[in-house]
Amino acid sequence: MTLVPRHQTTSVTVGSVIIGGDAPVVVQSMTNTDTADIEKTTEQVAALARAGSELVRITVDREEAAKAVPYIRDNLAKMNIDVPLVGDFHYIGHTLLNNHPAMAEALAKYRINPGNVGFKKKRDTQFSQMIETALKFDKPVRIGVNWGSLDQDLLTGLMDENAKLDKPKDARDVMHEAIVQSALLSTERANELGMGNEKIILSAKVSAVQDLIAVYRLLASRSNNALHLGLTEAGMGSKGIVASTAGLAILLQEGFGDTIRISLTPEPGGDRTKEVQVGQEILQSMGLRAFMPVVTACPGCGRTTSTVFQELAQDIQNHINASMPSWKTKYPGVETLNFAVMGCIVNGPGESKHADVGISLPGTGETPAAPVFIDGKKAMTLRGERIVEEFQEIVQDYIENRFGDGA
Ligand code: SF4
Repeated sequence: MTLVPRHQTTSVTVGSVIIGGDAPVVVQSMTNTDTADIEKTTEQVAALARAGSELVRITVDREEAAKAVPYIRDNLAKMNIDVPLVGDFHYIGHTLLNNHPAMAEALAKYRINPGNVGFKKKRDTQFSQMIETALKFDKPVRIGVNWGSLDQDLLTGLMDENAKLDKPKDARDVMHEAIVQSALLSTERANELGMGNEKIILSAKVSAVQDLIAVYRLLASRSNNALHLGLTEAGMGSKGIVASTAGLAILLQEGFGDTIRISLTPEPGGDRTKEVQVGQEILQSMGLRAFMPVVTACPGCGRTTSTVFQELAQDIQNHINASMPSWKTKYPGVETLNFAVMGCIVNGPGESKHADVGISLPGTGETPAAPVFIDGKKAMTLRGERIVEEFQEIVQDYIENRFGDGA
């Protein structure tokens, strides 16, 4: 794995998962089902956990949702899924936590949004009640600021102070300061109530990449709390993926971020697990963690007039995706493998030599032969109609020899 110096944070234990300190960056996600619908929510949490989500957050927005949480936890336990569940609370979290001790116990962490925890005088009381419940049940919290619901009193106060300066700062900088102060003031309040930083994760989410980078740099310069990183409302499809990757990659490279969530808007009927896959791919592309073998494939060009190499790359990727659930237990370490599927002789042999197993397919006009490289050395040459099948068999044998019981 690539060594990126990490911003030193206090580790927080959330159920069976450690966030912060020297722990690897954790990938998490959130359901979009109605939590009161026990069956659908259990099903989606299970799907997210199976996809690799190491924590799953669920909305707890009303009595029916609060009542459902212990049943969802029990159903998951029957399915042997022990992923920690995080409750997402807004406005009435203090009441729900107080009225539903079974829910408070079933959750592994509470997310508190300081901007949505009550207004004026009630804010302190309601925030305190949530922290006291967390202390009573020995649960960590995430103090999660979001600029869409920023504490308006705090923002207005800072804007007023700024306006009185000889040289007022840019309004955007004041907004960043307000977001960071909201997180830090709430942390101080939780500390005063007896909650240590080993129980507090912070987030400060915004929806624009440059703001995200500025806010997290500022937050990390003033706190050693574990950081939950994510671009909020990232959007749909490639826009959401690219924006999240652009923002998170810069911050992760600077050592910031102990857990990440990719907030993608799914296509109607789309698969919620996509956000887990993208989170894993960001970390793996950066060399920070390994989740599944990587297939390096060239983009193809005028030297490849057939689609053989695209099909082979796709077949290998599909084979890996389908096999990973069983490989994970059968072949520990398999996730670190690197395969190369290349379209012609120009970069094919070179790239294939860098992979654990690589194949260089014949480009247009080349001899119809495909050299295969194993551990950097040419091992054989495939010819004929069964190149795809034979290469897959070679991959399977390699995995068995290197990671199987007899290895
Ligand atoms: S390896 Fe060959 S086919 Fe692939 S992009 Fe390079 S030149 Fe084109």
